[in-house]
Amino acid sequence: MTIVAIDGPAGSGKSTLARLLSRRLGYLYLDTGAMYRAIAYLALQDGVALDDEASLATLTRNAHLAFDESGHMLARDRDVSEEIRRPAVSAAVSEVSAHAHVRDILVAEQRRIAAAGDVVMEGRDIGTVVCPAAEVKIFLTAAPKVRAERRRKELVTAGEHVGSNEMLAAIEARDAFDSGRAVSPLRRADDAVELDTSPLTIAQVLDSMERIVRERLHQRR
Ligand code: C5P
Repeated sequence: MTIVAIDGPAGSGKSTLARLLSRRLGYLYLDTGAMYRAIAYLALQDGVALDDEASLATLTRNAHLAFDESGHMLARDRDVSEEIRRPAVSAAVSEVSAHAHVRDILVAEQRRIAAAGDVVMEGRDIGTVVCPAAEVKIFLTAAPKVRAERRRKELVTAGEHVGSNEMLAAIEARDAFDSGRAVSPLRRADDAVELDTSPLTIAQVLDSMERIVRERLHQRR
């Protein structure tokens, strides 16, 4: 069983690349950010305050999170994969994911999914907390302006129009929150390979990632 841990800040290209890499390797793909987003979405729907840790933990325990065969996020047996990408959810998710009780429940679930077979997992704390013994760890970065522009384009494609400055401010605020929180902050694991994706195309990053995985697995044999 092999775990490939992909961590990095918002807009570093993690989701796109982790998904493509999992296909190339024939591994399962696990987007842990989608799980935190689903909880933030349900909290907004239910009107649960984002600082109410006990209620958020109860909500998380009863959320019935699952991924269907096409990788769509299900919560309470409903496909919420589009709703969880909305700016309101992006703005709420960091506060929700900073609660230790919420993380404990989701991390246990992520480890359970990872135990099922070879997997590419992406998030913020996969290499440091969720799977510190992962065979391969990659930390993706990119300049804040590049990341903001990528996210803005994704949103435009989804029909949401956000200004460049507004997007940059939102990305920087989320980075600061995710890196500064007390529990499992966004951090590169000491044994992770860091890749700056700013000047690279998706195909180039994907090739580098595949090379890193194959080299690491070869060394381990
Ligand atoms: O990766 P994505 O941008 O979808 O993640 C959304 C949010 O979920 C992050 O900003 C972070 O607050 C939280 N998250 C986390 N730990 C993870 C994955 C995501 O705290 N492993």
